[in-house]
Parts: sequence; structure tokens; C-alpha cells
Amino acid sequence: MLVLGIETSCDETAAAVVRREADGRASILSNVVRSQLDEHRAYGGVVPEIAARAHVDLLDHLVDQALREAGVRLAEVDAVAATAGPGLIGGLLVGVMTGKALAFAAGKPFLAINHLEGHALTPRLTDGIGFPYLLLLVTGGHTQLVAVHGLGRYERLGTTVDDAVGEAFDKVAKLLGLGYPGGPALERAATQGDPHRFALPRPMSGRPNCDFSFSGLKTAVRIEAERLVPLSEQDVADLCAGFQAAVVDVIRDRTRRALELFAGAIDPNVPLRLVVAGGVAANGSIRAALEELAFETGAALVAPPLRLCGDNAAMIAFAGAERLAAGETGGMETKARARWPLSDMGAAA
Ligand code: ATP
Ligand code: FE
Ligand code: MG
Repeated sequence: MLVLGIETSCDETAAAVVRREADGRASILSNVVRSQLDEHRAYGGVVPEIAARAHVDLLDHLVDQALREAGVRLAEVDAVAATAGPGLIGGLLVGVMTGKALAFAAGKPFLAINHLEGHALTPRLTDGIGFPYLLLLVTGGHTQLVAVHGLGRYERLGTTVDDAVGEAFDKVAKLLGLGYPGGPALERAATQGDPHRFALPRPMSGRPNCDFSFSGLKTAVRIEAERLVPLSEQDVADLCAGFQAAVVDVIRDRTRRALELFAGAIDPNVPLRLVVAGGVAANGSIRAALEELAFETGAALVAPPLRLCGDNAAMIAFAGAERLAAGETGGMETKARARWPLSDMGAAA
């Protein structure tokens, strides 16, 4: 089956076509992403109104391009899937309205997809892994450890009690003058720094639950930075390295705890799998720490290729294809919703 996917929940406008075979294997026929970085850079973050307008301007062209690159006509797709939440409501409305219009024109079902489910299922698209697996979801808006038992069956083991990890990267980068988006800039600066120069906290480490907290770490970086003003380039690099090392330690500790709980809860005969997804999964130090952890615990680590870590529409098309294959019929009455927790999802039909 062929599914056209649309993603407009934040500051990426994206369209893609994915083919899913009857045996569950899937391939990406096209995957067009237009990041609105330049539109928002002057404001140091995403401006919802500007984002929504940019989605309106861009989306039609990107859908055309995705169909053209895939060599597929709209009439040939089996469904249209669009992100319906969570995210910025203006952008979600643009994607959902466009998706519904295209589905109506083609006479095919419209599927409303949860953006986080898109991230969560990506390793099935890229590596074809089976259920269950432990998911570490690390994005700009979310930091969660989730036991994925099946399509739509998500059990949250832990979450952040304050900032998301990507948000913490972005805020620390901003306070150190590294610009927007912060994650990649901070990672680059950290390569020149000494991670041991500052004693920074490892919030939540050692706790019996699987929760995260990053705002205290961010504040600790701010206090060190304020003490050093004016900051030299080396000060910035050392703060970045120290911050990133602390984040890596926290993620390793929290994920180790979740793996223990998850391993104890699943059928001991199924292989233990750890999956990392979301934009922050692009971070090399975090990936390396997870590889180590997987090695130590005997888990298989699955991490999507970098271009599928951040927001894209292939993951939305694929989630739509999985749902369609599971018998979901979609509907024109589904609405965009700014808040839509993963745990608050029906299992597929
Ligand atoms: P959500 O999916 O929760 O709605 P989002 O769409 O903003 O949030 P993604 O697009 O998945 O999240 O990821 C973007 C985040 O990833 C940003 O916070 C960005 O700084 C962070 N990020 C990207 N690359 C890196 C990196 N190399 N190191 C650390 N963080 C990174
Ligand atoms: Fe995302
Ligand atoms: Mg984004």
C-alpha cells in the first residue's frame, strides 16, 4: 500500500510517500523536509504564527514534490496521513485541513497521526524490528521512556518533570550565545571543551523511578556562566562539554533503570531491544552512551539514521500505513489537538 504523509506540527514542513508491503516491510519513496530555521532565527525560537503561515505557503508545493519524486499520482495513494498533534495548533490545522482535502479529492481515507507515534515507530520503518521494545524518546518537546507493546499500546515508564532534553540543549545554547537551533551548535562546541572543569549535577540519577529533570542542570550552567562573565571561547566550550556530559550520565542512568523494569515485565524469550528516537538522538555522545549501555545489558540498540531522527513526514506516512494495515479506517471528523499524550491513544483497530 502507498501512503502520503504530512507533517506540520512545529517548524518543519514535510511531505513523504511510503510504501508498505503486505509482510510489513516498508520503503520510503520520497521524503521532502523544508525547515523554517531562517524564518525563526531572528527570534531565537519558533514563533507559532510565523510557523503556521510558512506551512500554508510551503505545504502544497512540498506535497507535489513528494508525489513527483515518488513517481506516484494522488489517485494512486491508499490513504493520506497527517500529524494531528501534539504540537502548535496553527500548524497542525494547516496539515490536517490539507490532508483532509487531499484525501477527499482522492476518495481515500484520512488518518490523523500522533507525532510522537511517528517518532516511536521510526525504527520499525528503518530496521523492521518487532514489538515489544523500550523506547527512549528525546525531542525538543518530550523526554520519555516508553514500553512499546504494540501499535497504539504505549506504557510510559518515565518522563521529564520539567524541561525536555532538547529544550534544555536549546536553552543552554541560547544562554551561552550559541544561537538557534541549539542542540547541534552545543554538541559542536562541546568537542573543544573539558567536561570535568565544572562540577554539574546529575538530576534524578539513582532514583527508583524512570523520570528525568533538566531545569536544575540548566540553572547550574547559568550560575557558572554568570560567575565567569565575560565568557571566553574556552569557557563556553567547557560549559558545553560539562552540560553534555551531565545529560549523557542522566540519560544512561534513567535508561538503565527503565531497561531493568522493562526486562522484568516482558516475556523472557523475546530479545531485549532498546530504541532511541527523536531529534536529540542525532547527538553522538548520547548515541555512544546508549551503545555502551546496550552492550552491558545485552540489549540490541536500534537508532534511526540521522535524517529520520528529526521531524519528517516519512514517519507520519509509515505510522499511517501501520494503522491502515491494522484495519483502521480513519475519518474526516478527527480534529487537530495541541496536547495528545502517547499513553492516551487507542490501540489500532
Ligand atoms: P516534539 O517532537 O516533541 O514535538 P520537536 O519536533 O521540536 O519536538 P525534534 O524535531 O524531534 O523535536 O528534535 C528537535 C530537538 O533536537 C531540538 O531541541 C534540537 O536542539 C535537538 N537536537 C538536534 N540535534 C541535536 C544534537 N546533535 N544534540 C543535541 N540536541 C539536538
Ligand atoms: Fe518531533
Ligand atoms: Mg522540530
